[in-house]
Amino acid sequence: MRQVYLDYSATTPVKKEVLDEMLPYFSEKFGNPSSLYDLGQEAAAGVAQARGRVAHLINANTNEVFFTSCGSEADNWAFFGVTDAQSAKGKHVITTAIEHHAILHSGEYLSKRGIEVTYLPVDHEGRVHPEDLEKAIRPDTVLVSVMLVNNEVGTVQPIKELAAIAHKHGITFHSDAVQGLGNVPIDVKDLGVDLMSFSSHKIYGPKGVGAMYMKKGTKISNYLHGGAQESARRAGTENTAGIVGFGKAAELAEQNLESHIKNVSSLRDYFIEQVKKNIPDVIVNGTMDGRHPGNANITFKYIEGESILILLNEKGIYISTGSACSSKSLAPSHVLTALGIPVEMIHGSIRFTVGDFTTKEDLDYTVECLTDIVKHLREISSVNAEKGW
Ligand SMILES: *Cc1c(COP(=O)(O)O)cnc(C)c1O
Repeated sequence: MRQVYLDYSATTPVKKEVLDEMLPYFSEKFGNPSSLYDLGQEAAAGVAQARGRVAHLINANTNEVFFTSCGSEADNWAFFGVTDAQSAKGKHVITTAIEHHAILHSGEYLSKRGIEVTYLPVDHEGRVHPEDLEKAIRPDTVLVSVMLVNNEVGTVQPIKELAAIAHKHGITFHSDAVQGLGNVPIDVKDLGVDLMSFSSHKIYGPKGVGAMYMKKGTKISNYLHGGAQESARRAGTENTAGIVGFGKAAELAEQNLESHIKNVSSLRDYFIEQVKKNIPDVIVNGTMDGRHPGNANITFKYIEGESILILLNEKGIYISTGSACSSKSLAPSHVLTALGIPVEMIHGSIRFTVGDFTTKEDLDYTVECLTDIVKHLREISSVNAEKGW
């Protein structure tokens, strides 16, 4: 059966060039990067090259990039590390209502430990307004964290403006840029962020590797304690092969950024156009002005997204209702809720994300299946409505 993967925001396949560079680090180059003999230093050189590649992609200095076990770890590090290091200054953190759970659940945990967390609202397009940040700032605020690109509706936030506001008040600024990396240009110096989180598996690298950009001088405690790896900022023997893979994926992302954005967004736009042409009563959520190039979040009125997911799965088409993390629960997406979308519409919403291996034929097949499935589900639901079910 044909398989169509349209969930690139959940994860991406590892590119062949990436895997090829990783493989020797599992076998002949297996040394511990902390070992001083040649075998260890060979592994250390692989890690150093990867650090340079990730740093280059985001215009950071090489010594400002720290590898972690995932994007979630970098997000946790920002929350726990900054509130710990700056506890004498205050106990207030500002973030937004549409963050990834790695941020939201870190915030919830901090709340139980006596730290107050303010969640900024977003408008109906999913955008944070700088005035709202300005209003939320207090003398005891130590951290502002706003994601660069939202993972459900793809909205890009005005990070440069928001970081400038935080800095005007002497507050550390963090951004979760996991969805942004490789999908929008990122220049940490131009954006003016102090901390930024990244993950390898969203950019055609392996799972289980992330990175934190940490501007020199940022007041943040260590999160993982132990050996002196990562310039004594993050303990634990390096995931050498994974880090090398992340580095190669970052290099490819930098080389392909323009063509990736162009190709992926034109496929996404084609998909939206075909869906609108073939299926009545659909709404595209978010905004087309400043959006993740591969993201199409669409509401199919009068039916359940879960039912669409199950029937598309039977056709070999893989999509998501909300983020992978929320799709296991039936609670309506916190992101679509924050956009002010009514709950019955949220239940009929699907996130399609296209990527580098998506073809036009994949999308034609998807629209064909989707048209039949939506028609079928709406017939059932109208029959049910007539029977008063
Ligand atoms: C995927 C994702 C994360 C988590 O990254 P992991 O490497 O899977 O832990 C964090 N934030 C956003 C916006 C994401 O999309």
